[in-house]
Amino acid sequence: MKHKGSHTEPPAEPALRIKALESLLVEKGIIDPGAVDELIDLFESRIGPRNGAKVVAHAWVDPLYKRRLLQNGTGAIAELGFTGLQGEDMVVLENTPQIHNVVVCTLCSCYPWPTLGLPPSWYRAAPYRSRIVIEPRKVLAELGLEVPPHVEVRVWDSNAEIRYLVLPMRPEGTESWSEERLAAIVSRDSMVGTAVPRVEARAEPQTR
Ligand code: FE
Repeated sequence: MKHKGSHTEPPAEPALRIKALESLLVEKGIIDPGAVDELIDLFESRIGPRNGAKVVAHAWVDPLYKRRLLQNGTGAIAELGFTGLQGEDMVVLENTPQIHNVVVCTLCSCYPWPTLGLPPSWYRAAPYRSRIVIEPRKVLAELGLEVPPHVEVRVWDSNAEIRYLVLPMRPEGTESWSEERLAAIVSRDSMVGTAVPRVEARAEPQTR
């Protein structure tokens, strides 16, 4: 697979400069190191992936939108206002009862920023990038996702242009749910393919 140019791993020098700037700001008392971690978490797991979750929930409730999304990911995602760097060439992969899709960038850490935010550290790390291609079922199981043997696992390696988004299956029992409520159960990992959306079992009321 072609794999050159516009990857997201920053060269060492900018990374060092950022680290130096952060240290200086912390030292001068201008920022709190906890605030930096908080901001990173915000873009990794809270702000970023909420956009992708809105795309998924919309596709779940609107079959015509879903069709457009699968035919032209970039255009359909832009309909909801999510565009920009690392989202210029989006391909949406539909999970079905027969096929489970999972996304990786084996060479670096290509990731669809407009819909998922910043990639988490495990996605950027060598073990995930090398092993998911070789033994996807085992890696998924270690991440807590057992894919039944009759379901085919497809691993998609991001290339220089394409960024993938997994469209997970809508869980049973959510037929009456609003789009907003549906979006709330679409996790970042379910759009990378390392998890699936789950309906939380309602806790039994405590009688004691
Ligand atoms: Fe890459």
